[in-house]
Amino acid sequence: MSTSLSGKTALITGSTSGIGLAYAKALAGEGANVVINGFGDKDAIEQERLGLEKLSGAKALYSGHDLTKVDQIETMMKEAADAFGGIDILINNAGMQHVAPVEEFPLDKWDLIIALNLNAAFHTTRLAVPYMKEKKWGRIIQTASAHSLVASPFKSAYVTAKHGLAGFTKTVALEVATFGITANCISPGYVWTPLVENQIPDTMKARGMTREQVMNDVLLAGQPTKQFVTAEEVAATALYLCSDAAAQVTGANLSIDGGWTAQ
Ligand code: NAD
Repeated sequence: MSTSLSGKTALITGSTSGIGLAYAKALAGEGANVVINGFGDKDAIEQERLGLEKLSGAKALYSGHDLTKVDQIETMMKEAADAFGGIDILINNAGMQHVAPVEEFPLDKWDLIIALNLNAAFHTTRLAVPYMKEKKWGRIIQTASAHSLVASPFKSAYVTAKHGLAGFTKTVALEVATFGITANCISPGYVWTPLVENQIPDTMKARGMTREQVMNDVLLAGQPTKQFVTAEEVAATALYLCSDAAAQVTGANLSIDGGWTAQ
């Protein structure tokens, strides 16, 4: 399986933390130039960026744009393409969560989650596809979720966005199929990242549970392996999708969920 990504450029949204940072490390480790994006402490991000460059000697660029804003997405995509002469691998990974009953779901949170978890992927994809078509090669990878396949209560915006992302990805896969471009979802179960840790207090409130009950009876309850998925396991799947061996894998939704959605 050839996974050398030397000479390729990967843009990974939401890659200052968690799963996105693991993707960036995996792809940079195989020689790809990477564009990282997301929020956080400027010095810490600069350290991560330098660390990525040391992995293989390829370049790493930080683009801190807010992907809930269409004009900022357009700027990020142009900056990346100008710096590296195109975008070969697009990983739509930036995402957020909010946990609340539907009748109390804050309107601003609904709009933000749909904008970031769904609409941003449409905008980055529409802007990346022309570069990929030109080179007759491309990889579009979405971090979807087990919640692109099944629902959980109190996560209406997230589940809606992730189901939408799965449908969007299948549609794009069909449109670009003859151009050497694949489009796939990776759907993790619970991965221990800040996104999961931060939803524990609201879940405790929404369900009237203790922290331990949320960990064992909500988060890991549905995962038959009773273990969190690791960000590195998710990143390894992205590397596979970027390889020549995965050239015919397109329109797929690959679960990495400890058996959650097999039930
Ligand atoms: P995380 O909170 O560690 O990372 C989220 C990233 O998105 C960060 O880099 C953050 O700065 C960035 N971000 C947030 N708002 C942004 C904005 N407006 N514009 C640009 N970047 C923004 O979370 P994570 O768990 O690594 O999640 C990454 C993806 O994986 C998300 O799409 C999430 O839905 C998905 N996912 C996570 C899990 C899990 O259990 N952690 C499971 C399934 C799917």
